[in-house]
Amino acid sequence: MALTGLEIFKLLPNKNCGECGVPTCLAFAMKLAGKIAEPEVCPYISDEALEILGTAQSPPIKKLAFKYCSDEISIGAETVMFRHEKTFVNQTLLALEISDALNEDEFNKELNRIESYKFERVGEMLEPECISLKNESDDKNNYLQKLEIISSKTGKIIILGNCNSEMIKESIQLVDNKRMILNRVQNLEETLEIISDSQIPIVVQAKNLEELFVQVSICEAQNSKNIILSIDFNNLNELLEDNVYLRRLAIKKGIKLAGYPILTECNDEDSLSSTILGICKYSSIIILKNFTGASLFPFLTLRQNIFTDPQKPLQIDSGIYKVGEPDENSPLIVTTNFSLTYFIVSGEIENSIYPVWLFIVDAEGMSVLTAWSANKFSGEIVGRALKNSGIDEKINHRRVIIPGYVAIISGELEDELKDWEVLVGPQEAADIPKYLKETWR
Ligand code: SF4
Repeated sequence: MALTGLEIFKLLPNKNCGECGVPTCLAFAMKLAGKIAEPEVCPYISDEALEILGTAQSPPIKKLAFKYCSDEISIGAETVMFRHEKTFVNQTLLALEISDALNEDEFNKELNRIESYKFERVGEMLEPECISLKNESDDKNNYLQKLEIISSKTGKIIILGNCNSEMIKESIQLVDNKRMILNRVQNLEETLEIISDSQIPIVVQAKNLEELFVQVSICEAQNSKNIILSIDFNNLNELLEDNVYLRRLAIKKGIKLAGYPILTECNDEDSLSSTILGICKYSSIIILKNFTGASLFPFLTLRQNIFTDPQKPLQIDSGIYKVGEPDENSPLIVTTNFSLTYFIVSGEIENSIYPVWLFIVDAEGMSVLTAWSANKFSGEIVGRALKNSGIDEKINHRRVIIPGYVAIISGELEDELKDWEVLVGPQEAADIPKYLKETWR
């Protein structure tokens, strides 16, 4: 459990020397409690205090990091029950299952299909990050061959499913260990022995919480700390109950045995509901058995929404954007830097016959009406931003179109931009093509 400022203060040297950048040890303790300083900054702190602070200040759910394409990606490290309390830290990874029993042609076709699932939304590339290779052939050579194909053709994390100890022994020689997860191993004790020198995460499976904690204890006793939890469920209620219990035990009660990321394997029958539930309620990895591009996209969108920091809306940089190839006679449209607003407005402009200069005002990532009511999109702010933007060197007219929802700022904007004409555009982005066609000459 996180320590309070006073509890941390008792661990500090009490020299009040100021070398940590604040005048007193108490002030430094408060910074540590607020997680805005690192204990190592104090040159006099004892090793014992460092160890206590390291353990106490680490997140209640263990963070596991993986190599993903040329990047790193993590799961776990969560600190809250609800995203509005702070934010969820690491998004649920989606894994698509593929069977090793497919013949080579079918396997390659399926792999290409998985690789093709990439979607761009509000400036972010969305895709499933993992492939789960299920051992159905029970043929070691065949499994290893398929594993090699995945490893060489994709940069995704690979979940090895249903493998025996021999398969695991050879697999860890074939694939970068930082890209691997072991799931549904056939012999837990033997596997722990095989991976004892590595950091490969292992999924611990059980039918209920009690059984799960026994399995976790076995792993911890063998010094295996890279654990992922998974409980079989028969219906959505069980999935919800188990995931919520685990999160509560880890975060509210500080039970270490529950402090690991959760993996959920969706059943064929209710994969839609269980994936939605898992994304919203605490699954760090979800394995999908049946999937198409059409079924994946809503999951990726939901995930993007749930794991966006509620205190930091998705936003783009302010400034002048070209939509099409605008020239000095092209219209100038103004809106806010909320990503969704930008992508909807620019999409609708693309649907019109007009190339446009789109001027994005920094409104702290808020949509138009929200920004206006928070006084971040007033006539004065928009006018000042336009004056400093350099747009007057790109156009030879002095007309600016503002969103219809903030028609109220037009007078103030005209006061700010003396020689300009302020035009009130439509309220809905979908009406922009019609508006430009009828209005812009
Ligand atoms: Fe206290 Fe250490 Fe900061 Fe000095 S450097 S004031 S001893 S916390």
